[in-house]
Amino acid sequence: MRLKIAVVLFSLSFASGIVDAAAIYPIDRASILAGSRFDLKIEFDGVVTEADVRVTINGVESSRALSQPMRFVSSEDGSPHSSLKFNQVTLQRPGDYEIVATDGRQVLKAGWTVYGTGKAKARNVILFIGDGMTIANRTAARILSKGIVQGKYLGKLSFDDFPNMALIGTSGVDSIVTDSANSMSAYTTGHKSSVNALGVYVSRAKDNLAHPKVETITELVKRKTGKAVGIVTDAEVQDATPAGMVAHTRRRADKPEITEMLFFSGADVIMGGGSAYFLPQKIPGSKRKDDNDFVGLFRNEGFAIATAAEEMKQAAASPSTRKLLGLFHPENMDGALDRHFLKKGTVDKYPNQPDLVEMTAAAIDVLSRNKEGFVLMVEAGLIDKFSHPLDWERSVYDTIMLSNAVQVAKDFAARRSDTLILVTPDHTHGMSIVGTIDDAKPGEEMRDKVGVYADAGYPNYPAPNKDGYPEDPNPSRRLAVFYADYPDYYETFRPHLDGPNVPAVKGAGDKYVANPVYEKLAGATLRPGNLPRSADTGVHTVDDGVLQAMGPGSGMVKGFMDNTEVFRVMADALGLGAATRLQAAKKKAQ
Ligand SMILES: [Zn+2]
Repeated sequence: MRLKIAVVLFSLSFASGIVDAAAIYPIDRASILAGSRFDLKIEFDGVVTEADVRVTINGVESSRALSQPMRFVSSEDGSPHSSLKFNQVTLQRPGDYEIVATDGRQVLKAGWTVYGTGKAKARNVILFIGDGMTIANRTAARILSKGIVQGKYLGKLSFDDFPNMALIGTSGVDSIVTDSANSMSAYTTGHKSSVNALGVYVSRAKDNLAHPKVETITELVKRKTGKAVGIVTDAEVQDATPAGMVAHTRRRADKPEITEMLFFSGADVIMGGGSAYFLPQKIPGSKRKDDNDFVGLFRNEGFAIATAAEEMKQAAASPSTRKLLGLFHPENMDGALDRHFLKKGTVDKYPNQPDLVEMTAAAIDVLSRNKEGFVLMVEAGLIDKFSHPLDWERSVYDTIMLSNAVQVAKDFAARRSDTLILVTPDHTHGMSIVGTIDDAKPGEEMRDKVGVYADAGYPNYPAPNKDGYPEDPNPSRRLAVFYADYPDYYETFRPHLDGPNVPAVKGAGDKYVANPVYEKLAGATLRPGNLPRSADTGVHTVDDGVLQAMGPGSGMVKGFMDNTEVFRVMADALGLGAATRLQAAKKKAQ
């Protein structure tokens, strides 16, 4: 039976927003993988006396239960509050746990569930994150890349036919709206976190790196198996989603530190943008504040280094390549619409970027040389980066690219039966398709040209090319796609052919106003925002995400799932919580 015990004072602190309220981390109702490592932190209200402190776990004195003495801090970070910590502890036996802490005055309680897994079902796990991918992304990508006639599609996205599907709840500890840091943390650790935090529970520690840590899937896989790990993204490799594979920090903006965490993670393949954080400060364009040369450090660890698509392909094709660092852009890479068609964004400066499809193929080539198997995370990060500025065409072309990347993994998995593939967003955006926009429709204003219901008919995008992209995103009858949340901006009812949309710019008093460059465009209409004026783009939404899965272990994917349960699906497939031989022998003897 689930324990129903709340941390005393929690609801009080929640209501009043007191940051120094007493707390236990991991939090009440946490689910914890048997044998995974975590920091247990208990924060008291006020300064307490160590001799009065007593902590029990299922009635057993904590130091004995955790085989570790507690570390008591009388005055944490100089504040008038005491705390105690057990670092890197594990609970091996599945079941319900009750943690009770007291200083003789206040009593704190939390209940945890520890779960085990059976033996490994899958040799490989490939997790695709369509960052911010909403239902409308999928629908528009299917319309543009497959076509639809008389209501029936002429084809499906690569993951449309995955047999298992679930709705995913994405909210975090602190807020109903997640960012990509805490939602990815939930996938990679099985623990909830807070906005901007990675691999930690946000406690009252002042130092970003001193919050109670929970073990990431990368750490678990490296500690418990001989498998290789790959991290691929078209955003910066330090961005929240890839960082979620390795990082422990309260602030996702700690990108120089996250670069170090990537280095020490033991990951075998790392590819994406973000090279600026790998370069020592003396190199022009470096974003480091020290002299560390991380490209050199990776090279010394035996990594092949690639900075362009051809180099990456050559390195991946070489049978001796087991470790690959690909850095193709100082910041986020360019999206499919710009790279393949418009040549805008920063494509003229960085013309040799590989795309996500090529990176996925290269990563699988290198990782699959490991006889024990691999875990690979591939993020289509730009789906989100383009939905923020309401640039739906770019977001949808990158959704088509994700579908192509998933096809590479599907083809790999089809040759074997040992690979679990998951495709999921980490959160959603407020994007919807409402009909079409037809330039031939009469009317003074562009809104008169929006067709809904029977007036919408079908768009006339050109047939997709061999990669599934229509060559022209701007036909005379286009999809009408709008976002539900926005700053002040000019709606142009057309794709932004001159480069990614910048909907708002800073005005007086740091308040964002509609970007005036679009004002003169034919048909542009000012849309007063519905977000606070501090917002310069659209925001994430709380709507569920849709996860699809195929392969061994995918049967656990169904109905509505919390995002922390996605970690459990992967841990179960990999057998990361399987009882060790010693434990099994003990169990038998009982
Ligand atoms: Zn975002």
